[in-house]
Amino acid sequence: MSTLTQTPMSLSLPLPIEGINPYQNALKQLDTAARYLELDPGLHEVLKYPQSELTVNFPVKMDNGTTRVFTGYRVKHNTSRGPSKGGIRYSPNASIDEIRALAMWMTWKCAIVNIPFGGAKGGVICDPRELSMNEKERLTRRYASEISIILGPNTDIPAPDMGTNPQIMAWIMDTYSMAQGRTIPAVVTGKPVAIGGSEGRNEATGRGIVCIAREAVKEMGLSLMGMKVAIQGFGNVGGIAALIFQEAGAKVVAVSDAFGGVYNPAGIDIPSIKHLMGQDGKLGECGLGERITPKQLLELPVDLLIPAAIENQITAENAGRIRAKMVIEGANGPTTPDADVILRDRGIILIPDVLANAGGVVVSYFEWVQDLQFFFWQEAEVIAKMEAILIRSYAEVSKMAQTQGIDMRLAAYLIGVKRVADATTIRGIYP
Ligand code: NAD
Repeated sequence: MSTLTQTPMSLSLPLPIEGINPYQNALKQLDTAARYLELDPGLHEVLKYPQSELTVNFPVKMDNGTTRVFTGYRVKHNTSRGPSKGGIRYSPNASIDEIRALAMWMTWKCAIVNIPFGGAKGGVICDPRELSMNEKERLTRRYASEISIILGPNTDIPAPDMGTNPQIMAWIMDTYSMAQGRTIPAVVTGKPVAIGGSEGRNEATGRGIVCIAREAVKEMGLSLMGMKVAIQGFGNVGGIAALIFQEAGAKVVAVSDAFGGVYNPAGIDIPSIKHLMGQDGKLGECGLGERITPKQLLELPVDLLIPAAIENQITAENAGRIRAKMVIEGANGPTTPDADVILRDRGIILIPDVLANAGGVVVSYFEWVQDLQFFFWQEAEVIAKMEAILIRSYAEVSKMAQTQGIDMRLAAYLIGVKRVADATTIRGIYP
């Protein structure tokens, strides 16, 4: 017989930093850009709020016969430039304010790389490590069904984010398609290639980070060859970026997951890591270097630091101890606005998330286009087209930073927020 149990789950991942609210950070970043752009106060107000928010509490039958209620969200920030696009996160720390922030950052990111999407994000409060495959499938299908009133290839298109992957996108696509009575691949991106995913999508965010890093060091008259790189987070973004940095000739000296990591100043062979990790897949146990915590990794003496895990990792508390020459944000929101100021004053260059990790959404855009046309491209074409967009976007942001004498985050925001503000103004306010 099934029994109904309460939601709070045992948390096995570290909790986010208390008192730092990602949505408040996102609003501060928007305020700064709005001041520079002398944005009309009414328009500024429009851009502060998510356009719509859906909270769903839904039951899932667990393998042991009990029933648990999970909470999920889907937030659309702005759709002035096109249908909304953004990942779905499974995390014990997901909250409405985190999802609001991530949705807003997606709006700016799509505008900065100039693809025709608005921003959205979704999440379910759960620890995917504690769920079996069958529980994950039932949870995903029920969540997809609950939010299906706002999903659609012309309205809102999810993708993977922390704790989700191509298999979860496949279940969402299937659930949505079953209800519609036909196969609709364009309703999600980041699917397996076998069901309409794009070649190159799985690697796109990590590959994009390396492409942006290459452009940034090239501007300084340098190359990635031999550069020391530390990467926090070893999932889809950090793990793949680590591999591609190594292929590009950089020396990856430190990597970490949520539980710990390793540091080896002589360099770590990334492909060996998977074979050497402990039974439960903990990176710190691979034995390829001195064991460190995810926080210690941030303070290592390296050329490039890539925070590629979660928000609020570089804060006013530790920004003074960062020794990297350049920070390239793989994660969304890893640096707080206070830390931004400290890094800038210390001469540390920061390439912001909304530009640095945009490779993922660019190839998601290509996947959506391919799905709508049922016409698929080769991997080389996908990579070449993605890199062309990222290189152009980097050049635009860098030029803005240089001509205005501002940092790269503000420069990116001036471009992105202005594009969204212009689209909102041109369309006018309905009715
Ligand atoms: P993932 O779930 O594949 O991997 C996350 C990694 O971060 C894991 O190694 C995990 O152990 C580690 N981690 C989790 N909590 C941590 C903590 N408290 N401290 C240190 N490490 C921790 O997720 P992902 O898809 O690689 O996403 C990582 C970040 O990149 C997120 O901020 C996400 O929003 C952003 N991002 C992802 C994509 C994408 O295409 N997947 C695109 C753009 C941005």
